[in-house]
Amino acid sequence: MRPEPFSNDYQRYMIVVAHPDDSEFGAAGTVARLTAAGKQVTIVQVTSGAQSIPYPDANPHRVAAVREGELREAARRLGVREVVFLRYPDGEVKPDLGLREKLMELIQLHQPDVVITHDPVRPYALGHGHRAVGLAASDAVHPAAHNPLYFPEHLREGLAPHKTTEIWCFGAEHPDVETPQRPIRCDNERWHSMGRWLRRAELPDAGAYEGTMTPEPFSNDFQRYMIVVAHPDDSEFGAAGTVARLTAAGKQVTIVQVTSGGKGSPNPDANSNQVAATRESELREAARRLGVQEVVFLRCTDGELTPDLNLREKIVRMIRAHKPDVIVTHDPFRPYALHADHRAVGLVTTDAVYPTARDPLYFPGQLREGLEPHKTAEIWYFGAERPDKVIDITDTFDRKIDALMAHKSQIGDAEGLDERMRERAREVAEGCDFELGEAFKVVQMRR
Ligand SMILES: [Zn+2]
Repeated sequence: MRPEPFSNDYQRYMIVVAHPDDSEFGAAGTVARLTAAGKQVTIVQVTSGAQSIPYPDANPHRVAAVREGELREAARRLGVREVVFLRYPDGEVKPDLGLREKLMELIQLHQPDVVITHDPVRPYALGHGHRAVGLAASDAVHPAAHNPLYFPEHLREGLAPHKTTEIWCFGAEHPDVETPQRPIRCDNERWHSMGRWLRRAELPDAGAYEGTMTPEPFSNDFQRYMIVVAHPDDSEFGAAGTVARLTAAGKQVTIVQVTSGGKGSPNPDANSNQVAATRESELREAARRLGVQEVVFLRCTDGELTPDLNLREKIVRMIRAHKPDVIVTHDPFRPYALHADHRAVGLVTTDAVYPTARDPLYFPGQLREGLEPHKTAEIWYFGAERPDKVIDITDTFDRKIDALMAHKSQIGDAEGLDERMRERAREVAEGCDFELGEAFKVVQMRR
């Protein structure tokens, strides 16, 4: 717990909340300290809370007007100079692209150093509006607001990409930031801070592992492996050392590439189709270097994936066509993981494996095309908070680097890449009887 969160590096704070009074319940003591310290605080109010009244005859417009007036007064008392009302319908907020775009626009306009919002991953938290706003705010911060290829029309209107340094989530289960009682009385408010998202999330120390760390993961029962990832290079960062071992052991490996990473350029004038074409060829080269037999491009739009039935149908089709024993994908359950595409692919793939691909009444049209239902035995999630399988990649680490080097458009001059990846691989393998590892969380299904 850091008792003093007010860095001199941060001048602008933006609070994004679902209902009037959420920001006061969650952070008013802190806001009072921020404004007293001369920081600029903006409250973005997603709904005006029109439904939050116990009288069935109340006029929602009137309720919203009253609550907006109340929030203005609360903000005045706290020294907040600006409140922005988005006026989404109360009770109907979804973490969709529309809300993400709106929040991204406000981030680019106000350029906050810190965004304060609802914790979107607090388990058992009731209130989908809070969750939706927390998620949309996180996804607006990263990568949408700082990547010029997201919603480029905003740039043409004069807005510039902006990097927010920290997200503070109030209502967190495991807060790691709190404000002291002094010098202004506040209610010991606490958040989980996502930290500087530019830094990779902390890897768990060896003590955090549960279950056994197996150096030999390649059961003879499993011959077909399918990797489902959001962007070209995700599979290499997550699993290239393992893939090199799998192909060397004669296993069949297929990479299903959901987007072609068309927004993966810092250049606002880049052509997304051209970026995507470059990245597809980079991935093909990386796959060749790893001995991967097949890469399938689904060519969904980069940055716009949602865990919907449409995407699930595509993944189910891949599973029924390729019949993998093991599927490797993003961990969608890792708390505070930024990047909605990763979350969407991990979640949809999970739901595609069980029960959708297995049960013939899901997407029966595929059966008429000759695609049989299929039972996958295991899902391996990379990027897990608490992995339970570590694969020994000591002998294939150099091939992982070689494969990553194929992604020229993403890694630049690759300065420090080898050392950085080696350091992480070493941390992952801590406590194992080998030097370098890749870690996964494994979920097994009955077949
Ligand atoms: Zn990615």
